[in-house]
Order: sequence, then C-alpha cells, then structure tokens
Amino acid sequence: RLAAAAETAAAVPRMPAFDHVPLPYDGPSAAEIARKRAEYLSPSLFHFYSKPLNIVEGKMQYLYDEHGRRYLDAFAGIATVCCGHCHPDVVDAITAQAKRLQHSTVLYLNHAITDFAEALASKLPGDLKVVFFTNSGTEANELAILMARLYTGSHDIISLRNSYHGNAAGTMGATAQKNWKFNVVQSGVHHAVNPDPYRGVFGSDAEKYVRDVQEIIEFGTTGQVAGFISEAIQGVGGIVEVSPGYLPLAYEKVRRAGGLCIADEVQAGFARVGSHFWGFETHGVVPDIVTMAKGIGNGIPLGAVVTTSEIAQVLTRRCYFNTFGGNPLCTAGGLAVLNVLEKEKLQENAFIVGSYLKDRLRGLQEKHEIIGDVRGTGFMLGVELVTDRQLKTPAKEEICHAMENMKDMGVLVGKGGFYGNVFRITPPLCFTKEDADFFLEVMDIALSKL
Ligand code: PLP
Repeated sequence: RLAAAAETAAAVPRMPAFDHVPLPYDGPSAAEIARKRAEYLSPSLFHFYSKPLNIVEGKMQYLYDEHGRRYLDAFAGIATVCCGHCHPDVVDAITAQAKRLQHSTVLYLNHAITDFAEALASKLPGDLKVVFFTNSGTEANELAILMARLYTGSHDIISLRNSYHGNAAGTMGATAQKNWKFNVVQSGVHHAVNPDPYRGVFGSDAEKYVRDVQEIIEFGTTGQVAGFISEAIQGVGGIVEVSPGYLPLAYEKVRRAGGLCIADEVQAGFARVGSHFWGFETHGVVPDIVTMAKGIGNGIPLGAVVTTSEIAQVLTRRCYFNTFGGNPLCTAGGLAVLNVLEKEKLQENAFIVGSYLKDRLRGLQEKHEIIGDVRGTGFMLGVELVTDRQLKTPAKEEICHAMENMKDMGVLVGKGGFYGNVFRITPPLCFTKEDADFFLEVMDIALSKL
C-alpha cells in the first residue's frame, strides 16, 4: 500500500511556491455548510461539483480550503477576479471608502463615483463616454436592450445562438441556449446562426453567417431593428470565438436597418483577451453601447453600461434609477482595479502567458485524442472534449471526471458550452508561466486517466 501511495504522490505535480500563510480557520466544517446550503439556499447549479470545496480564503491566483490546502484557481469565480483574489490595493480602496461612506446614490455628488466613470470612459473609443452603473451583467444588458429600443423606436433585437446575456426577462430572451431558458415571455428577440468556427454550419465563413442576419431583418422584422447584441467570445457558450470578419459585416447590416450595436463585454472585457482591453477591439468594430460586469470589480458586485451622450439621453424621458448601481464602495474598488491592471501590466501578462498556455494546450491536443478543439485568446481559453473527433461527439461524462481529478490535484477549472463538454480556462490575470506549467501537467495527468 505504501508503494502505491508513493506512486500516487509522485504522479501529483508540485504546485509553484507561493508566499502566503492562510489565516487559521475555526468556522463550521464543509459537511455542516453543505447541510445548511441544501436546506437554506436556492438549489441552482448545485450539480457543478459533486463534492464542492469549502473555500475560506483567496490570495491572488490561489484559493484555500478550510484545511489550508491551496488550489490554483483557473476559473476566477467565472472569469471575474481579474487582478487576483483580495488584491491588497483593491482591499485598501474598499476599506478606506467603507470607513468614509458606504452608500449614497446618484441623487448626491460623490467623487468616488465620478472618478471611476471618468477613468472607465477613458478606456473606451470614440464617443463612448457616458456611464450608467448597475450591479450585474444581467442588469447592464437589460438596460442596453432598453436603450436600443427607446432610441430606435423599434422592438426587435438580434442576438447570436449559443450566447449568454443574463437571466432576467429581456436578457433571457437574448440568451440563446435552452439550458438557460425558462418558459416565460421573452419577446422580440431573433437568434442568428452562430458564427462558430468549430461547430458552425459554415465553418469560419463570416459572409455566409451574416446572410442570416440580413434574412432575419428582411423576413422577421419590419426592416427596422432596435439592435444587435453579441459577445466577442462566447463565454458560457464554451469559449466560442465569433468568426473573424463577422462582426464588422453584422454591424453594417444592423446599422443599415436603423439598429444599435451592443457589445456584451461582461466576460471578455477588462484585459482578459490579452491582445486588447476589450473583446470587440479584436474584431476592429466600435459598438454603440458596451456592457460590462465581472472583471470590472474583481468580484465586487458591479456592472456598467457605457454609451454615447446622445443615446444616454433616452433615459431622461422617464425616471430610471438603480439604488445600488454606482455604490461608492464598488466604484472605489473599480477604480483600484483599473489602476492595478495598468500598474501590474496584467493585459500584457494575459497576452504572453495566455499565448504560451494556448500553444501548450495545442501540444496536449496532439497527445490526447479526446481534445477536439483548443481555442480562445489571452486568458479566455477553451478546450473542447469529444469522444470522436470526426463526429465531434461531446465527452460530457469524461469532462466531469477530469475536472474532479484536477481538483484533487489542486487545480480548479470551469466547464461550459452547450453540451457542457468544454473546459473554460479563465484564471485571474496574474496567473504566471509556472502556474500555466503546473496547470498543463495536471490536465495532462487527468486526461491520461480517462
Ligand atoms: N453576459 C455575459 C457574456 C456573461 O457571461 C454573463 C454571466 O456569466 C452575463 C452577461 C450575466 O452577468 P451576471 O451573472 O453578472 O448577471
């Protein structure tokens, strides 16, 4: 038995050294928390992990369980923690603000709110400079859709199949995956054929996909539309990169039909794609409205819609308000996030380490037949598992086994996609090359064990 234990220990790669001692934990056990969760929390996504960890602390790209065991976090709270868990600058900014003023609304002046709005506007091109703060990505997209409808006087919205834009009435309509839809009224949204280079019917042929947008406009609407909403890389949809060349053509068709173009940057924004600060920039387009959340606050509940002053005027027709949107605790944290991204050159890191990781994942693809596709950019990478490369049969059970196995070896990774068979690798942007090597070793072992 000793020999077997030694063999297992030898097979587990060593995690990179990290200089942090977690705080002592004297809270309730994982079993006790699991019992309360089952009794008192609404059961949503409980199936994600069969045995969820009790995570009690986070530091940069690492998480700790109640025993002080360290895990490399390659999912970052669903692509959310961008500068690292509990980054000291973000913690300091929130703490300082909490001591001074925890809540005010846009009814009063407060520089924590306007300073962040100004800094955010400086990150966006063209006339995109008027900010409306929300608490989440769903709220941001709801507002963007409302603005497009008010501005154009049309109701019809076009979104892409396989997209995820949120879970309220309007955004659930725009979301186009049955897994995330409930049978409630979600009117006025048309779903265009997804320009998915791996599974899409036209491969990467942007022009063919865009014909569907034109057909929707001609056959499904009055010829006038309110807007078009899309991610640059579909996150929940399994890190699907929209085919190159598609967005400029789609934007042209939509604008010709009077519509506004909305870029959903909830997941791809804030330097995650590495080569650029925003996902839409990788496609060379300038949207009319940009929505964001997740990375904007490094985990603080915060979202935003940024648009032009002309489009923003539509909200003055009635009273539009959000109690917590632009809460100074969140905006003070948001400003610290922007500063850290710049100071620590995290976009550059996402580009360099992300490119390295992607190359090495392609190497793993040569070794493991089960890897059907490796895609994405920066720290928004996807690895799709299939049991048959020709038929692209989704390897649904295999990915669950591999994920549990990786967790046992100290790596947390996400999964998603329509079939739930895509690893989503979206770590905090401070993830190092050594972390990438460790991640790759662990994934290699986990796939070898399938
Ligand atoms: N848009 C995209 C692209 C997302 O990935 C998500 C969430 O995963 C949302 C919108 C919704 O954001 P939230 O969960 O903050 O409401």
